[in-house]
Amino acid sequence: MTFELSDRVQTVPPSGIRRFFEIAEERDEVISLGVGEPDFATPWAARDAAITSLEQGKTSYTANRGKRELREAIADYVANRFDLGYDPDEEIIVTAGASEAVDLAFRAFVDPGDTVAIAQPSYISYEPGVIFAGGDVLPVPTTEEDEFRLTVEGLEEAGAADADMLVLCYPNNPTGAIMPGEDLEPIAEFAREHDLTVLSDEIYAELTYDGEHTSIATLEGMRDRTIVFNGFSKAHAMTGLRLGYALGPANAIGAMNKIHQYTMLSAPTTAQYAALEALDSCADDVQEMVDQYDRRRQFVLSRFREIGMDVFEAKGAFYCFPEVPEGFTAEEFAEGVLREQGVAVVPGDVFGGSGEGHLRVSYATGLEDLRKALNRIEAFVQDHA
Ligand code: PMP
Repeated sequence: MTFELSDRVQTVPPSGIRRFFEIAEERDEVISLGVGEPDFATPWAARDAAITSLEQGKTSYTANRGKRELREAIADYVANRFDLGYDPDEEIIVTAGASEAVDLAFRAFVDPGDTVAIAQPSYISYEPGVIFAGGDVLPVPTTEEDEFRLTVEGLEEAGAADADMLVLCYPNNPTGAIMPGEDLEPIAEFAREHDLTVLSDEIYAELTYDGEHTSIATLEGMRDRTIVFNGFSKAHAMTGLRLGYALGPANAIGAMNKIHQYTMLSAPTTAQYAALEALDSCADDVQEMVDQYDRRRQFVLSRFREIGMDVFEAKGAFYCFPEVPEGFTAEEFAEGVLREQGVAVVPGDVFGGSGEGHLRVSYATGLEDLRKALNRIEAFVQDHA
């Protein structure tokens, strides 16, 4: 017998980037600029705290919402860094990665038939998350002309005034776009006017290379209608430890916790010890990594321009989003450069919106490899000129 799959699962197409991993496996010496995770090891102090917690036998569940001490540390951190004020008891939940927090939010707030507007190109998990929760996705394209920032015109054109919820992610995966406070103001006004709740994925907030990150939740009237996601995967280089969190009004976080307590019980305990130490003593390590990403960013942007590929000035996260030269689709370019030169990048159409014609290039890779990879991309472009 075979299992009958649910309509929800069948509706979601398989991930568009899997094929590329298969090609990459066939070839030697592939340099991957494809993955969205830091090449740095987790700061030692955080690893050491995790090890010590294991040595001490601290391997039980924690409180459903996460260790109180960690929630307090998160409350202090987001207050100091991003001017966000949340109560550790009622308004913060610690999750298994930001991924779990995003999923909880869709399941806690989306009913069948609800419409969730998603600013695109965007991280690939939002759309399936909405579908798994039974909602309808409304893509809201952003454009390179607008530096991939979300605009009120874009929201209006897409019909987002009738949506129930808006998802945005700045600094953005895959474009590297950021949204300064003055650009978020009209979006906040639109959300208030049309009574939209907002899910703001700010997991790349620390990785902002131009000015300071502004959270939409700090804008007038937004705190009560916004859930902010963040976590330790990116800035603290802790992807495999699986730790994230959500911030929001008490009734919303309570609803998310209701699902979390039945489906997850609590986020990984060892990772919570690591995270506590990361917030306590690893700010310098984070800054050092951010400085390195920034140097790589500048190198990659300038190399693409030298090669003659147009590239938008990415100012956050660890991605840039160059345009493919004429004569290629993004998919053709990505497949060609992988097969012929052994460089893995992700075609932009995977991320929706106006991603077609672009490549997502991650610079979470050492400068030495970035240099080699950009030389190979140059050779590929010249071979096909
Ligand atoms: N949001 C965005 C925008 C991401 O890029 C990622 C990871 N690629 C996540 C969330 C998931 O992060 P985590 O490891 O905390 O689940």
